[in-house]
Amino acid sequence: MQLLNKLSMLLPWRSALLLFLWLGVWALGLLVEYAPHASVWFPVAGLTCAAMLVVGVRAVPAILIAAVIITFWTAVQYDIDMSNRQLTEAGLLFGLAHIFPYYLGAVTLRKLTAVSKYNLPLFVVSFLVLAVGCSLLATAAVLSSLVFTGLMPAADVSSTWLPFWIGDMAGVVVIAPMFASILLYMFPQTKFNIHSVIGSHSKLPSNQFKYKSGLTIVMLILAMVIAWYSDSSESAFAIFFLVIPHMWIACTETPFITVLSLALTSFMIALLVNLFGLMDNVMVYQFAINVIAANALFGLTVPALMASNNQLRMVAATDTLTQVASRSYLQQRADLEIRRSLQQNEPLCFMVFDIDHFKQINDQYGHSVGDEVLRQACQHAQQMLRPADLIGRYGGDEFVVVLPNTAKEAVVAIGNRIIESLLQIEITKQLTVSASFGVAALQQGDNFHSLFERADAALYRAKQQGRSQVAWH
Ligand code: GH3
Ligand code: MG
Repeated sequence: MQLLNKLSMLLPWRSALLLFLWLGVWALGLLVEYAPHASVWFPVAGLTCAAMLVVGVRAVPAILIAAVIITFWTAVQYDIDMSNRQLTEAGLLFGLAHIFPYYLGAVTLRKLTAVSKYNLPLFVVSFLVLAVGCSLLATAAVLSSLVFTGLMPAADVSSTWLPFWIGDMAGVVVIAPMFASILLYMFPQTKFNIHSVIGSHSKLPSNQFKYKSGLTIVMLILAMVIAWYSDSSESAFAIFFLVIPHMWIACTETPFITVLSLALTSFMIALLVNLFGLMDNVMVYQFAINVIAANALFGLTVPALMASNNQLRMVAATDTLTQVASRSYLQQRADLEIRRSLQQNEPLCFMVFDIDHFKQINDQYGHSVGDEVLRQACQHAQQMLRPADLIGRYGGDEFVVVLPNTAKEAVVAIGNRIIESLLQIEITKQLTVSASFGVAALQQGDNFHSLFERADAALYRAKQQGRSQVAWH
């Protein structure tokens, strides 16, 4: 298997595929170029960034060759008179200037992720900060290389650098996450698995996705028509409303659907800006793409945070050893039940039980047998209870059962049935498990503490009277 992987790494077809992909994505950017070297967005920046992150230096030859090819194309397009050798050198220099900043960013992001795995919010912040920095560095490096090789007049730099930078940044923020996911399937032994950070969820959209994408398309077209019809720079800002459907998508769909939607929306924005002739306000649209994408990427963290919150709540509510309710959860739920029963004048009982001679069991058979006694005692007790009853560990070998809508006599009978059941526990030979029970019924003016005290006092009497029995207050 390893040999197969090594062999497939040497095969050039993956690099060729990357080269064609890069040229195809570059052509998409060209489709929406509104001035020489300035597009609404520059999607190949995102592909290069993703390739550096996922594939690493193995992707460099393909991107360098692509850079030389587009340099030849540009020379023809802008009627630049340079020899083939000069164009090749200019293309290589452009390629290196374009690749190196994203290589640096990718190495940094990989290092940061290795330190704080699974921390999605930190990953998103780091990615956005690096996207800003790397695209600025790439802008400086590429413009210098273009001027140095004579492909661009130095006088054009001051008017080009800002749209160039924001366009590159939009390409990175919008396209890189999607390609980071796609390149994983193209290359074996990748350097970075984005799914380890954002989770490898299904790639399918939910049933409601049609409404979300419909809303996106309607808002997008409306924003463009308003900007075109009113012809004012203020109306161009309507495009920022697209933050709303994209946050909706990010919080309710899988990460892949979110990054795919971002890529499609930004492409549509770039295309419609060209179609409607909204170039005067192109910077507004460039910033909008960045802001919508940055918001949506933060939105991705919401379901992850909610899931870990739920998990924490579950952990805090459950006793790890016995899997019954924890003391704090028991108290919370019991308080609610007490208030509800008092309000509705319904009966409620507390039953407190404690394993008999548990210290002796620990001393004689060891702590792991003691733990098993606690686990099995809880299981046996649980089997005698109804779904509405709640059992929780008060501490050590003492447990509390809250029984709503139950009269004291019925609870005493339940306690006796649990005693019978505990006697069936067989963990090791000669070990019989028993427990003593105290029962108290809710009275006017009671709270958790007062009701527990009475049940505990009854338990004390059960112990005094010889254990393995139920006493009540
Ligand atoms: P009594 O019949 O009067 O209840 O006597 P007892 O020996 O059971 O006395 P007590 O209830 O005070 O003993 C509690 C013991 O439970 C003391 C402590 O070492 C042990 N214990 C508390 N938590 C755990 C646990 O999680 N696992 C185990 N194995 N033992 C525990
Ligand atoms: Mg005990």
